[in-house]
Amino acid sequence: MSETLPGFRLTQPESVDQAVAAMRAEPDSRFLAGGTDLIVNMRRGLAEPKNLIDLNGIAELRSITQDVDGLHIGAAQTLREIGEDEDIRHRYCAVAQACDVIAGPGHRNVATVGGNLCLDTRCLYYNQSHWWRKSNNFCLKYKGDICHVAPVGKRCRAPFCGDLAPVLMVHGAEIELAGPDGRRRIALADLYEEDGADHLRLAPQEFIVSVHVPPVDAASVRSGYAKVRVRGAIDFPLAGTAVLCNKHDNGSMVFVVALTGTNSRPFLLGGVDPVAPGQNLDEAFDQLEKLVQKQVSPQRTTTTAAHYRRLAVAALTRRLARELAADLADG
Ligand code: SF4
Repeated sequence: MSETLPGFRLTQPESVDQAVAAMRAEPDSRFLAGGTDLIVNMRRGLAEPKNLIDLNGIAELRSITQDVDGLHIGAAQTLREIGEDEDIRHRYCAVAQACDVIAGPGHRNVATVGGNLCLDTRCLYYNQSHWWRKSNNFCLKYKGDICHVAPVGKRCRAPFCGDLAPVLMVHGAEIELAGPDGRRRIALADLYEEDGADHLRLAPQEFIVSVHVPPVDAASVRSGYAKVRVRGAIDFPLAGTAVLCNKHDNGSMVFVVALTGTNSRPFLLGGVDPVAPGQNLDEAFDQLEKLVQKQVSPQRTTTTAAHYRRLAVAALTRRLARELAADLADG
């Protein structure tokens, strides 16, 4: 198989209902937004849909609004548009920071929030040309029967490497989905599961319509995002961390942390204790660092050592939490 893009048809619905109907008529289709992940995978023979349903012409998916219920982002809103929104930069800082460091400017002009949340998982043995994968007898995730990373197991360990999922998760985001059974709303954290070959809990033929994030009190909340990557200018995270720090009126502080790039799903760090008024913050940072090291499970899916990714993301979390707490203390 060559590295040229295989032929496909393009269906261009103008409403969510039309998109659902198009998928129902041809269930082997794939939804297309920015195409920065799917089209590359099609060129590499990792996806072979005969029909793409382009979501970009649906007006409902192209908006950013705010009201008393918080922030509402249409799924086809581009990363550039989100990252340039002044109010998002001010109140949802981690979201803007993540947008700024996803791929390169050309990608961000077309890549969408819905697409970034639904990124395929990535692996050294999977994101390769067809002939390379064929010469290695493919792998468990696609067309093969063995995982080259963990040959004893029967589960794909490829990590999810999206940057927007963790930052939206620390802000408590929900997503609205549309499909043949109508619409439903779920917590973003519930979209994912720990299976690199099937990491999205979408029902058949479902897609993301919008993202909803609760309001933020800019006076008492800070959030941020940091990642390590091979190439600083343009790359997926080897490991990434989003931290939100909320200072309550009584002086107590709550940290919320979400991780990406280390597991097949982005996930919220469990077991984080609130920081009591007057408590030594270094104890809280020690706890965060230990919890991250314990709960991430990077595998041999990149050229960078798994142990380095574990230590690096724990250190990044500690540093980010310390910076956010200091910023809140400065007012
Ligand atoms: Fe394939 Fe294993 Fe990599 Fe999954 S983790 S993509 S099964 S080699």
